[in-house]
Amino acid sequence: MDKLKNIINKSSIRHQLFIMVSAGIIVMLSASTLTSTWFTNQQVKNILLAEGLEHTENLARNSTLALLYSSPENANSAIQSTLAFNGIDGLAIYDREHNRFIFKGTKDLPLKLDTNITASTEARIFYEDDNYWHFIAPVILRTSNDEMDKQLFKEEKKQDTLGYAYIILNKKTLDNIKTGILVNNLGIALIIYAVLLVILNFIIRSLTQPLKYISDVMRQTAQGQFTTQVNTSGPLEIQHIADTYNRMVKAISERDNELRAHNIRLEEKAIHDHLTGLINRIGFEESLTIAIDECKKLDTHHVLCYMDLDKFKIINDTCGHGAGDELLMEISLLFQDHIRHESDILARIGGDEFALILRNCSIEKARNITQTICHSVRDYQFNWDRKQYSIGVSIGVIPLNKDTGTLKDAISSVDSACYLAKEKGRGQIHILQPDDKDFDNQTSQTQNSRLILDAIENDKFELFHQAIAPLKTVGTKKINYEILLRLPKHQGEYMDSDTLIESAERYNLSTRIDQWVIEKSFNLLNQEDCLLKSADLCTINISPSSINNNLINFIKSNLKKHNIKPEKICFEISESSTIGNLKTVKSFIDEIHILGCLFSLDNFGSGPLSFGYLKQLNADILKIEGILIKESATDSVSLAMVKAINEIGHILNMKTIANSVETDSTLEYINNLGFDYAQGHAIHKPTPIVNN
Ligand code: GH3
Ligand code: MG
Repeated sequence: MDKLKNIINKSSIRHQLFIMVSAGIIVMLSASTLTSTWFTNQQVKNILLAEGLEHTENLARNSTLALLYSSPENANSAIQSTLAFNGIDGLAIYDREHNRFIFKGTKDLPLKLDTNITASTEARIFYEDDNYWHFIAPVILRTSNDEMDKQLFKEEKKQDTLGYAYIILNKKTLDNIKTGILVNNLGIALIIYAVLLVILNFIIRSLTQPLKYISDVMRQTAQGQFTTQVNTSGPLEIQHIADTYNRMVKAISERDNELRAHNIRLEEKAIHDHLTGLINRIGFEESLTIAIDECKKLDTHHVLCYMDLDKFKIINDTCGHGAGDELLMEISLLFQDHIRHESDILARIGGDEFALILRNCSIEKARNITQTICHSVRDYQFNWDRKQYSIGVSIGVIPLNKDTGTLKDAISSVDSACYLAKEKGRGQIHILQPDDKDFDNQTSQTQNSRLILDAIENDKFELFHQAIAPLKTVGTKKINYEILLRLPKHQGEYMDSDTLIESAERYNLSTRIDQWVIEKSFNLLNQEDCLLKSADLCTINISPSSINNNLINFIKSNLKKHNIKPEKICFEISESSTIGNLKTVKSFIDEIHILGCLFSLDNFGSGPLSFGYLKQLNADILKIEGILIKESATDSVSLAMVKAINEIGHILNMKTIANSVETDSTLEYINNLGFDYAQGHAIHKPTPIVNN
C-alpha cells in the first residue's frame, strides 16, 4: 500500500488523472458491454426458439400427405428446407401410433415417442438438455378452408392427428452467436475506449499544462532564476494561482535585487573610506597583497608610499573637526592630481594617513612624484573661516620587488620610512635604502614596540624600586621610593629605559604602560610582605601623553580599589616631556592634588624650562638633573645653577632631590648644599621589588 502511495506521489498530476479517468472508462465500458451482450443474448435465444417452433410447425404441416398416404417422399422438400436451417441436427416424423416414420440428421432420435410427449396439440419445446432443445408439433389433417379447418379441428380433433414432427436444435448455434456478439461488443467498446483515451488525453493535457508550466517555473525560481513568468491562461483557478505566483515572484525578485544592490553597497562601503571616497585600509591591504604577489611572480617593480600630514591636529584643534574633514577631502583630491588613475592605487588608511602604490615605477620616478606631492601640499592654502592655513606632508617611500617580505613587513617598513621623514623635519620624503642606518634604528624601534606590547599583554614587565634618602635638613627618617619600570629581554638583560620610553611614545603605548605600572604598584603597596607597604612615599613616573580624564579616573578608582592613602603616592614627569605639554601637565597636577596625591618634577635643569614656568606648575617635589649635580662638583656655573634651583625650589615650597648621587663624597657635598633628599647609587641601587 505504501509502495503504491509512493508511486502515486511520484507521478505527475497528469498521469494520475489519466490513469484514474481511463480506469473509470474501462469499468464503465466493460459494464455496458456485458449488459448489452446479456440482453442481446436473451433476444437471440428467444428468436432461435421461435424459429425452432416455427420450423417444427412447418414440418408438421408439410408432413400431412406423407403420413396420410404413408409416402415419405411427400415430406422430402419440407425435410430438406428444415435441415437447411443452421443448428437443426436431426428431425423425425412419427405416425399416429408414435412410431418413427421418417428420420433425417446427424443426431439420432428415438424410434418410439412417449405418449406424454404428444399430449399437446400445439408446437412446443418439450425437453432441453445441455446441448439441444427438443421441439414437437402434432401433424393434423387440415383443409384449405379456414372455417372448415376450424370445424374439423374442433369436431374431429382426435381422429385427425396423423402423427408428430420432432426437431432437435443444437445449442451450439446460440453459443456461437453469443461469442460473436461478445466479440463484436468488445471490439466496439475498444474503439470507443481508444477514442475516449485520445479525447481524455487532450482534455487532461490542456487542463494540466498550466500546472506543469507553474511547476517548471517554480523549479527555475527555486534555482534562483526570477526572470521567467508563468503563462496565465488556463482554467480560472489556475489563472489565479499563476497570477498570484507571478506577483509573488516579482516581489521576491525586486526584494532580491534590492538586497543584492544593498550588499554591493555594503561591500563597497566596507572597502571604501566614507569621507574621501578612496579605498580604506582593508581595501588597500588587499591591493598591496596583490601587488607584492605580482612582484614575486613576475619580477615587476612597484613603489609603496606612506603619507602622513604634518601637524594636522592643529587644524582640528583650532578650526574644529569639520574643518579637519574638509582639509582631508581637499588633500585627497590634491593627491589624486599626481597619480595615474588607471594604474596607481591611492587609499586613506587612517586619520591623516594615506598610502599609495605607484605601479611599475622606478624608485627615481617615485622620488620625483613624491617630491612634487610634498611641494604641492606645502604650497596649498586651506581656507576656513576667512583665514588661510598651510599644511605639510611627510612621505615614506619603499620599493616593492621580489625581495619584499610579507604585507606586514612592507607596511611596517614604509611606516618607519615615514616616521624618519618626520624626524628629518617634516614636509620631507624618506626613501628607504638597503643600508639605511636610520631605518635599522627604526626597525629596532618597531621590534621594541612588539616586545612592549607583548609585555603589556602577558604581564612581562618587572617593577624595581630605588630609595630616596632624606638628608640632614629634613630631619626625619622618611622612607621614599621611586618605582622604576624594567622590561626583561633575555638572559637577565633589560631594555634600556630611554629606548623603552621612546618606542612606547612612538607607538602610542605609554598610556597602557602607565596604567599597568599604577595598577601593579598600588597592588604591591597593599601587600603585607611588600617593602613598599612601609614606605612613606612612592613615586610613579607618568608620560604626559597618557594624561587625560581617563587617567585621572583610573588613578581615582585604583586608589579606592586598593585602599591606598593618596598622600603616599607621588607622580613624576620629567622637565623635558613637560615642554610642549605645560597646560596638560599643570591641569594634571591640579587634579592629582584634588585626589590628595603629590607631584614631582624630574630632571629639572636639563631643559629650557624657566623658573617662571616652575612657579606656575605648583609641584611638590623638584628633582634636579643628575648631570648638573655631577658637574657642580667641578664646574662653578653648574654649582651656581644647582644652588639657585635648590633655593628657588624651597622658596616655592618644594622639597628638593639631588639625583644621580653616585659617590659618598657627592652625597656629603649635596648634604652641605641644603638639599632635602638624595637619590643615586651611593644610597641605593635600583632593585626588583618582588625579590626583596
Ligand atoms: P604629525 O605631524 O606628527 O603627524 O602630527 P599630527 O598633528 O598630524 O597628528 P597625527 O598624525 O599624530 O594624528 C592625526 C590626527 O588626526 C589624530 C586625530 O585626532 C585626527 N583624526 C583622525 N581621524 C580623523 C577624521 O576622520 N577627521 C578629522 N578631522 N580628524 C581625524
Ligand atoms: Mg599627522
